[in-house]
Amino acid sequence: MAKINQDYTNLQGSYLFSTIAKKVAAFSAENPDKKIIRLGIGDVTRPLTPTIIESLHKSVDEMARKETFRGYAPDLGYDFLRKAICENDYVARGCAISADEIFVSDGAKCDSGNIQEIFSRDNKIAVCDPVYPVYVDSNVMAGRSGAYDTALGRYENIIYMPCTKDNRFTPQLPTETPDIIYLCSPNNPTGEAMKKAELQKWVDYANEKGAVIIFDAAYEAYIHDEDVPHSIYECDNARTCAIELRSFSKNAGFTGVRLGFTVIPKDLMVEGVSLHSLWARRHSTKYNGAPYIIQRAGEAVYSESGKKEVKELVGYYMRNASLILNGLTSAGYEVYGGVNAPYIWLKTPAGMTSWDFFDYLLRNVNIVGTPGAGFGPNGEGYFRLTAFGDYDATVEAIERIKKM
Ligand code: PLP
Repeated sequence: MAKINQDYTNLQGSYLFSTIAKKVAAFSAENPDKKIIRLGIGDVTRPLTPTIIESLHKSVDEMARKETFRGYAPDLGYDFLRKAICENDYVARGCAISADEIFVSDGAKCDSGNIQEIFSRDNKIAVCDPVYPVYVDSNVMAGRSGAYDTALGRYENIIYMPCTKDNRFTPQLPTETPDIIYLCSPNNPTGEAMKKAELQKWVDYANEKGAVIIFDAAYEAYIHDEDVPHSIYECDNARTCAIELRSFSKNAGFTGVRLGFTVIPKDLMVEGVSLHSLWARRHSTKYNGAPYIIQRAGEAVYSESGKKEVKELVGYYMRNASLILNGLTSAGYEVYGGVNAPYIWLKTPAGMTSWDFFDYLLRNVNIVGTPGAGFGPNGEGYFRLTAFGDYDATVEAIERIKKM
């Protein structure tokens, strides 16, 4: 008789965004006349830019001709894309990363969920609290988390690094030593980012302890401040302790197109084994490559016109971020993030829980946001709004909240 993976039974409730979707669907069904403004899910709303569309059309045509048709892509990605990434995202920033250390994939979510497969189940995992829920859930599925403590809202074997307003939402070195450390900067959900000196501390700590940092830089395109690093490899000695995850979702609007990559330097060794070779083995066994058409579109992001358009796209969303940040501040809310990231993290008013505030906003002003509690115990009492909406809708949302 078949048996299920019991580790899955340790997962808490349904995925945060499914719960939100169900609540919003129920509200819309009861109130079909209400215009709901969605500032909840971190999905983009602007269309793909002309350079990317042109590249997609061109490669679709290539697929229609025998001479230019392509089948399976190379497991680790086409050289044209790996080189473009390497030159623009790393060499141009002074990072010593080579093209063959880049593994092209269909997005950072899959990579962040899958990367832990190459590590032992005995590893002690540290995560920021609050943080993108995939890091914790994928480790629960892999049987690393231990039991869930309902009272504390946390798993017994995961080290939670509180990111609160007292430490400006920046994780501090934990007292218990972890083996794997997930860092996400700029951070989802707090919208705050680590400065280079802070990140360097983590790199030094990981090298000293023999730990590996999984650095999620999905939002690097939104960095505004000079002293915030775009890549962990801007720090000294990061090649011997860090893996970096990147995505084309939030900079170029590829959430529905799907493209991302993971960087594993060749000198990153654990127990004398190269993580680069383990991930290459895993990738080639379980993954058949991102589509040619999509990788060409990714290459177009790095063309002169592509870079200009993507900058404008990010600028559009960051105008929303400033609008939300300033609007809520003037309405008397305590607000964070929104400068180096498309997320605004606000303290719920009058001591409301984050789910109570979710219901309150939905019912009273028909705005959907994301309850902070869904991102970890320290997210309780906070609420995330995203800058990924339409500008006019964002203006209206802020007006509604101000009048509330
Ligand atoms: N990493 C973080 C921190 C995210 O917030 C998200 C999406 O919201 C992702 C990764 C997912 O990226 P992708 O669309 O490339 O899978």
